[in-house]
Amino acid sequence: MSDWHWLFGDQLGPHFLTPRAHGPAPNTPVLMIESRSVFRRRRYHRAKAHLLLSAMRHRAAELGDRVRYVRAETYTAALRDTVGDAPLTVHHPTSRAAHAFVTAVPTVRVLPARGFLLPGEAFRSWAAGREKLRHEDFYRWARRELDLLMDGGEPAGGRWNHDKANREPPPKDARTLGAPAPYRPHEDDIDEEVRADLDRWEREEGIVFVGRDGPRLFPASRREALAALHRFIEHRLPGFGPHEDSVLAHDPVMSHSLLSSSLNLGLLDPAEVVSAAEQAWRDGRAPVRSAEGFVRQIAGWREFVWHLYWYFGEDYRHRNALGHHTPPPDWFLELDADAVTARCLSTALRQVRDTGWTHHIPRLMLLGSHALQQGWDPRAVTDWFHRCFVDGYDWVMLPNVIGMSQYADGGLMTTKPYTSAGAYIHRMSDLCGGCAYRPSDRTGDRACPYTTGYWSFVHRHRARLAANPRTARAAQGLERLDDVQDVLRTHHRQTRTPP
Ligand SMILES: Cc1cc2nc3c(=O)[nH]c(=O)nc-3n(C[C@H](O)[C@H](O)[C@H](O)COP(=O)(O)OP(=O)(O)OC[C@H]3O[C@@H](n4cnc5c(N)ncnc54)[C@H](O)[C@@H]3O)c2cc1C
Ligand code: SF4
Repeated sequence: MSDWHWLFGDQLGPHFLTPRAHGPAPNTPVLMIESRSVFRRRRYHRAKAHLLLSAMRHRAAELGDRVRYVRAETYTAALRDTVGDAPLTVHHPTSRAAHAFVTAVPTVRVLPARGFLLPGEAFRSWAAGREKLRHEDFYRWARRELDLLMDGGEPAGGRWNHDKANREPPPKDARTLGAPAPYRPHEDDIDEEVRADLDRWEREEGIVFVGRDGPRLFPASRREALAALHRFIEHRLPGFGPHEDSVLAHDPVMSHSLLSSSLNLGLLDPAEVVSAAEQAWRDGRAPVRSAEGFVRQIAGWREFVWHLYWYFGEDYRHRNALGHHTPPPDWFLELDADAVTARCLSTALRQVRDTGWTHHIPRLMLLGSHALQQGWDPRAVTDWFHRCFVDGYDWVMLPNVIGMSQYADGGLMTTKPYTSAGAYIHRMSDLCGGCAYRPSDRTGDRACPYTTGYWSFVHRHRARLAANPRTARAAQGLERLDDVQDVLRTHHRQTRTPP
């Protein structure tokens, strides 16, 4: 028996308190700690700080007398002053730092992780002895283990993978995808109190944020998160998939679910989310390519990333296989979208500044790709993503940025670096039309910074790329360029100011 159960700020749904094996006993008093030092140490997006504090305070309000909600400078101070030497349980925290902290407190007993679909031991047995850990292999294994979208031993709908059908460019001449609007919450008294506190921290406590804290866009309570899930499954899931990889200047959300912050705050259990998507397909309310495409994101990518975070070990965050050491410039760190001329980059940066969110492709092929082409330090880039995105946490950032986006792990997670010249962005978005640059130009005043950046990247890493069958063509392409030195000079010139 424990006297207390501690809920971290990303353990906010009912599944963190339901009495199951390895859970807190019913009615155990709950401790929640709002630590200011977290915000003092790093410069977070203000909308992210707002969402986190609002979600924690909404949960405390739901739990009523059962919770002791402590506002303190540090966790250590809060534990000392509130529970003293009383025994305490906590579900496995999601970061290595928090895990190290709780395991070092003698009175704390750590319970298994919740908020993910598969236990760590199952992943380790799957991974054991494999030379390469590939997402597609993991995903198929996970579907079988979870009996998810399966008909007996076969994938429901006849295919494991609908990626080919889900890589369409945006519809021609459409400003938006025309998907039904996503759920958006209404702020309440708790948000008002959070805003006042954040204003005071900035004014009196020297805590500094980045980005704009406009109306709260993401759920902060279980009720709001369920409403967002319902709206997505009933109205937006059927359109999920085909245009997943494309970008529209005037439609930042397209058919994406906007559920990442709710999942990562623990407001939604991924099991309920994937089973709602499967049911929608079984009931004929969504096509299989949409249901599979969505389930793949959660039972595949999200779950894979979570397990890799623990599997790759502590030194994964220090990987820098490409030897990139340039610090990101101030305009990027400050989210100064107005300083940027390149329409695609300025659009993505503006979305981050104003909302703390962009969908996957701006993260990977605009923000991340630019950082990779410029040779920015992968740790600094990871830190930036972590602080600036409402859904950013250590566990999800490290594999996505160090691995997927910056290739700093040298290919442990992906088979090739994700970066492209302007032609790909032109094909997959409507951004180039109104841009001062031309995607096909690699020299001169209108040279596209993604095109020059791409060739500079290929040139810098030509030996490595030539040795990888998936990128050998890029290295061969470089040999065919007759103006390489001009392109490199143009790129160099462009790096002196925001592109
Ligand atoms: C550089 C980079 C940084 C990223 N940082 C984060 C992050 O901090 N937090 C985060 O949750 N996702 C991150 N992602 C993954 C993905 O971009 C976001 O999960 C997604 O854009 C969130 O929007 P959505 O909820 O509308 O997603 P949808 O497109 O609707 O996808 C559904 C869900 O799948 C999950 N998902 C899909 N891909 C991933 C992935 N690669 N890793 C983890 N979950 C995934 C998310 O929970 C998401 O809500 C990152 C990707 C890249 C390339
Ligand atoms: S031309 Fe280049 S910089 Fe401009 S929007 Fe297209 S890809 Fe981006």
